[in-house]
Parts: sequence; structure tokens; C-alpha cells
Amino acid sequence: MKIIAIGRNYAEHAKELNNPVPTTPVIFMKPDTALLKDNKPFYHPEFSQDIHHEIELVLKVSKEGKHISEKFAANYFEEIALGVDFTARDIQTKHKEKGLPWELAKAFDNSAPVSNFLPKAQFADLYNLNFKLDINGETRQQGNTKDLLFSFERIIAFVSQYITLKKGDLIFTGTPEGVGKVAVGDHLEGFLEGNKLLDFYVK
Ligand code: MG
Repeated sequence: MKIIAIGRNYAEHAKELNNPVPTTPVIFMKPDTALLKDNKPFYHPEFSQDIHHEIELVLKVSKEGKHISEKFAANYFEEIALGVDFTARDIQTKHKEKGLPWELAKAFDNSAPVSNFLPKAQFADLYNLNFKLDINGETRQQGNTKDLLFSFERIIAFVSQYITLKKGDLIFTGTPEGVGKVAVGDHLEGFLEGNKLLDFYVK
């Protein structure tokens, strides 16, 4: 199982980090050891003083495919979830300045909490989904999939030109604006269209 993540897929988030709005998808990966399930606590690593939350819609790939056309890409995922793309922003900033890869900032252990999955058929319109992240009862990030720069189908078509998608792979589809630092003791709650899917603590 692999985790593919899309960077800068909401224009307002790209701008808040002073990044250009991309014209093709920006992708990176996290290993399976990044996955954190069942609302288990996230233990703040010691190597970073600036771990950021990024709430994201997550797709679960339902069958193997490569060179998938955008027209058929919707057939390659049946379930969606919420995830947090934890990012060591201090490390990422240094690596970006030097033109180095992002793995140490993005792919560390437990950097990808993911909720239970819901059937996509449960939602009337995948491109009008409200989702948000509350921390200690206060809303920090609020997004709607209508603001995606690259649709789920475009992401699947794009990624599968380069990397074969396999059943069970996860795709993090990008975060809306409002990213920020988490601290030990924080209580994170993620909501998708009113369903509370994420509910865990930073320890
Ligand atoms: Mg992200």
C-alpha cells in the first residue's frame, strides 16, 4: 500500500505559503509506515518545532490501473475519508530553499492519520463536499471540494501515467487554507458534511 499526496490543490492554500498556483498537479508520497488509523493519538516528533495540520479528503483506490483516462477515473475509487497530512513545516521550508526533496518533512511515521472510509455513493455531489478541522473546539480549516484545482479524476489520470495505482492505495487530495501548528495536548476533530470522522489527540 502506498500513499500519494497532492500539494497545492487549493489556490488559497498555495497563496498562504507563498507558493505559485500550479498548472499541473504537485505530487509526493508517504510510506505505509506514515498511516495512523482508528483515531489513535499522534505523538509529536522531537525533530520538528513546527508540525502543521493539513486536513484533506482522501480517496481509496478500488482497483489496479495505469494510464487511466480521466473519463474512466471515477471507476477507480468507491470510498472517501478524511486525513491529516502532517507536515514538519520547518524542515520543509529548509528543504524547499535548498531544492531538496520533502520526505523528511512529509513522510515520517504517523504523519498520515486517516479516518474510516465512507462510500462515495452516500454523497450527492463529490464536488460540493464541506469538510473542516476543529482544534480544541475551534474551527481552523474549512474547505469545499468545489475549490479543488485538480479534480479527483484528473489526479488519478495524472498520477497513473507515472505510477501504477493498486487496490488499497490512498490519495490525499490537498488541503484548503488555514494550515497551522499543532501542540501537545491539542484535540483534533475532522468533519465531512457533518459526519465526525476524525477525533484524536496530539500527545
Ligand atoms: Mg497536504
